[in-house]
Amino acid sequence: MLQGGIMTQSELSRTLESVFEKYPNLCVVGGAFGDEGKGKIAALLSHYYDVVARFAGGSNAGHTYFTSDGKKMVSHLIPCGLAAGKTCVIGRGVLVNLESLLGELDAAAQILGPIPAKAVLVDQQSVVWTPYHPILEAYFEQVRGAGMIKTTGQGIGPMAGLHRLRTGVLVGELFAGSSYCKERLKQLHDALWPLFSEMARRDLLRGINIPSADQVADGLLALAPKIRPMLSDTSFELCGRQKRGARILAEGAQSTGLDLSWGTYPFVSSTMSTAAGAALGLGLPPATFRHTLLVTKVLPTRVGAGPFPSEIWERESAEQFPKSHPELFRSGKPRAQYLKNVLVAVNAGSASNKDIARYFQVLGDERGATTGRGRSVGYLDLPWLRYAIRLNQPMALALTRFDMLSGLKRIPVVTEYLLNGQLVPAGQMPPSWELAYVKPLCESWPCWPDDISGCCQEDLLPQSARHFLTKLERELGVPILLVGTGPKHADIILRAGAAERLAA
Ligand code: GDP
Repeated sequence: MLQGGIMTQSELSRTLESVFEKYPNLCVVGGAFGDEGKGKIAALLSHYYDVVARFAGGSNAGHTYFTSDGKKMVSHLIPCGLAAGKTCVIGRGVLVNLESLLGELDAAAQILGPIPAKAVLVDQQSVVWTPYHPILEAYFEQVRGAGMIKTTGQGIGPMAGLHRLRTGVLVGELFAGSSYCKERLKQLHDALWPLFSEMARRDLLRGINIPSADQVADGLLALAPKIRPMLSDTSFELCGRQKRGARILAEGAQSTGLDLSWGTYPFVSSTMSTAAGAALGLGLPPATFRHTLLVTKVLPTRVGAGPFPSEIWERESAEQFPKSHPELFRSGKPRAQYLKNVLVAVNAGSASNKDIARYFQVLGDERGATTGRGRSVGYLDLPWLRYAIRLNQPMALALTRFDMLSGLKRIPVVTEYLLNGQLVPAGQMPPSWELAYVKPLCESWPCWPDDISGCCQEDLLPQSARHFLTKLERELGVPILLVGTGPKHADIILRAGAAERLAA
């Protein structure tokens, strides 16, 4: 079926179905530092599952994807199965901002039409957001000074931290009677009050009035009626559905490099974002998600602070660039001319690292869906991926943004890290304070002149693009099943060899 000719959407669907029917429970996680396109891959695969369940992170995540009929969706808390009509579960491992959730549901309804009741389920024991959390987060960031993590500022870290201190308030507690709920919020308020008082004394509140526990309770209780239909014991629900034959797609947020323990601590998110977090965040037995698809972009990116060994240029500059040159981040002549000129310089070997980094940032529209901050771009980083593969043991990779290498003669690929003059063993990852000083060793890999954007057929890729993929597979020891060639739903290549092996 894959020999010659164009693979139609229905052929793609049939092949995906035949591959994924072997994997009734699948986990999709990111390999590097986020924004790899997990949303697009989860949305694509959601068609072959009954339930799509988020297990980690909070509304600090941002997935952008397109529906099969071309509608653009941006989700923060709701898993990417909504457009395919799948039940979307927000598991206990997710930190829930109810206002964001309701806003997201409204936005989704504008695009998809009315969302059926029970299309989205929220775990009754997920930690709930309060206005106290971002205030705390801002404070911790100020205290860190130059060591700032540069979080999204939504309060996700304090939600996770206070949960561990057994001081978090849970979504379901809003329904346990108004006086009980107020009492729980008073406990939270009182636990934090000494800190808030000290912040006020040191003039660190920046004009923010700390709301009373009653005010916070009233705000949350006002949202409660809209949340009630979604409230669920999601672990029990998922288990029951599984017994009745439901297939579950666990959708990761953030990524391996941002996992609280296994990422570049302290420059990480606050939950467990590797595949191991799926069972924990959804309350399913550890053996449930034996199969993982690792999503990684061919040019990794990073926002916020933290080590990024393959980074091409510097973070601050990347963050500001979209704001200082908005004309380059919308389609039109200035953008097209800019990309054309820099590409010539890149291929002539006369472009600086700053030019190269900016070229990729513009080409990939590398701006965060949650904050709009510019993302800093790095080269493909094999030592990091070997580490991510060791931790997640994926059955296959989904390599996104492959189209971004179009037109380049060659691209550096990081093959080893050197630390204090020694090669770092494959699969090992130095801690953050050392990772910041590793010297990445690069090889130059050939690219291709043709534009492969939107290509959906492996046979139609230039030979050097196919070689790139087989070489990468060999280096990593994991099959590359899916290759992204653009943001749209259909901009995807399903690789026949990998598909056959995985379907066998
Ligand atoms: P996530 O958080 O991992 O889901 O990733 P984001 O949604 O933050 O960012 C991924 C961005 O890349 C989105 O804007 C996608 O539309 C886009 N994208 C996904 N796959 C591809 C691809 O293969 N090529 C290109 N050019 N863009 C892609």
